[in-house]
Amino acid sequence: MTRRAEATHQILLVDDDRTIQRLTEAFLKPLDVDCEFAGCSAEAFESLARRLPDLILLDHELPGESGLEILERLKADPILAQIPVIYATGTAKETVISRCFEAGANDYIQKPIRRPELVARVQSVLERQRMMRELWSNARTDSLTGLPNRLLLQETLARAIERARHDSRYHFAVLFLDFDRFKTINDSLGHEIGDMLLQQIAERLRTNLRSEDAIVRDSQMTTLSRLGGDEFVILLGDIPDEAAASSVARRLLGVLNRPYSLAGNTVNSTASVGLVCSDHDYQTADEMLRDADIAMYEAKARGRGCYVVFDPSMHAAVVERHRIENDLRAAVGTDQIHLVYQPIFAIEDGGVIGMEALARWTHPHLGLIPPDRFIPVAEETGLIVPLGEQVLHAACTQFQLWRRQHTRLKYVSVNVSRAQLEVPGFATLVRDIVAQHGMAPAQLQLEVTESMIMSRPDAAVTLLQALKALGIRLAMDDFGTGYSSLSCLHCFPFDVIKIDRSFVQELNGERSEFVALVHAIVNLAYNLGMECVAEGIETHEQVAVLLAVDCLYGQGYLLGRPAAGGETCPDAWCTRSPRASTPDIAEKLTA
Ligand code: C2E
Ligand code: MG
Ligand code: MG
Repeated sequence: MTRRAEATHQILLVDDDRTIQRLTEAFLKPLDVDCEFAGCSAEAFESLARRLPDLILLDHELPGESGLEILERLKADPILAQIPVIYATGTAKETVISRCFEAGANDYIQKPIRRPELVARVQSVLERQRMMRELWSNARTDSLTGLPNRLLLQETLARAIERARHDSRYHFAVLFLDFDRFKTINDSLGHEIGDMLLQQIAERLRTNLRSEDAIVRDSQMTTLSRLGGDEFVILLGDIPDEAAASSVARRLLGVLNRPYSLAGNTVNSTASVGLVCSDHDYQTADEMLRDADIAMYEAKARGRGCYVVFDPSMHAAVVERHRIENDLRAAVGTDQIHLVYQPIFAIEDGGVIGMEALARWTHPHLGLIPPDRFIPVAEETGLIVPLGEQVLHAACTQFQLWRRQHTRLKYVSVNVSRAQLEVPGFATLVRDIVAQHGMAPAQLQLEVTESMIMSRPDAAVTLLQALKALGIRLAMDDFGTGYSSLSCLHCFPFDVIKIDRSFVQELNGERSEFVALVHAIVNLAYNLGMECVAEGIETHEQVAVLLAVDCLYGQGYLLGRPAAGGETCPDAWCTRSPRASTPDIAEKLTA
């Protein structure tokens, strides 16, 4: 007869009667079980410390601690409580039976034990246990990659945190990985290829971590998991220090950044990795995952394909961003959002021809917040749409107030973001607002930045043409910063080009290359029938150069700083003609 290598199920039989022990073992023989015996509670817990069985058969009457007391101790332990228990007793007292079920027994058997009943009860409990295990495992496995999922990661992470709290020598780290071009690959090559990529990533990680025993000393805690999408998290159990975790991150990046071959397509998808170590005194798994995620975003911001170690100041920046977002939600539509106006001048004689509306936010506690801190948040959250509408109404109201006193003012200029342009019906909204305020369409100018247009030039042309068809003035803002080529300017229906401040700042007699560049922009604009406005004029020398290259309009602190609207006539800005104190450098330039 060949001996089984190992029985399928392990059973611990806690009974002090040797005859019953032997009898039970004989009864259960056909079930492919392996029995271990304990005669009292001490022996039972000793055996449990060595090995966890699939089932405990527990007698009621034992020397020392009773069966019920042992049962209560078992159920108080989070790990032992998972093992099913069949309670055996010779007394048929209902109190004993109901107490054993109250204490957590899974089944009950009356002594003297009879073979068919014992076999049936053991079989049924083991089957239930098998099903429970399967459910447990399914709930904790990512079906695509076969890796542990978020739930199992959270449970393991919680245990690692608990262990580090009690053992100051225990360090562990979490790596949060996100793949930089996954969405594009998924969208362009299809979900099947996207799934293949995720499977290959999982395989590379699996193979690589297995070979890393020297660094990862606690393989039980070490968990490679997929959170969902293209997010993978690795818990490195028991590492010596942060440097060791960093070396794992570096090595993984090297492995992951190699091209992937997916059904005949070669694709590149670099990873961005956030790393956080256990020394920040974390209380919960979620806190630690949150910080690893923050560090991962920082890695993306630093150019992708790299890893970043979490630092608490990153958290402060995220909290601040969150606060801005929440408070901005409440501020939009109220007078916390208001406008200041910066004049646009005819450089030659100082006449104000337009006013640019610039949004400001007076936060009830933080005070004045400049647009570069809240406009990007508004853009990311979609709040730019209601905010932009509020700005349009306010600017039009102010324009009509000024128009009554000032005849040379041709238009009010309002900055718009890409998200606003892309809202279906934006052109109709603009038309209605202009009409509602009794303005001619050409009295409103919309400024869009060059970078905004260049991200999707074809779509931008269509959107801008719809506005142009209504007669709205269009300006390309910050020209020169968005990498558009001069040659594609003619594709866009702009009335005005605003030359970015960074070029205007360089305009002086010594920087002839910038003078030549601005001159070229001005000439091209005129040839295309567009006006030119120089932004950020701060010195008289800049004014002189701009006049020399025939740039007719300008804006800047020298000419007029942004200020509140109200009743003040725009002429008040024009205290003197900018030309008056301008050195005559035209000769120097042409020399
Ligand atoms: P922008 O449209 O290019 O506006 C010009 C910015 O340069 C303004 O900053 C203005 O105060 C500043 N500036 C003007 N002259 C000078 C100068 O001589 N020197 C210097 N150093 N700076 C000068 P601000 O008001 O902080 O606005 C920054 C940006 O925020 C704007 O750049 C615009 O892109 C955006 N923004 C402002 N209001 C709105 C809005 O209502 N909607 C949208 N979508 N964006 C807005
Ligand atoms: Mg602007
Ligand atoms: Mg600008």
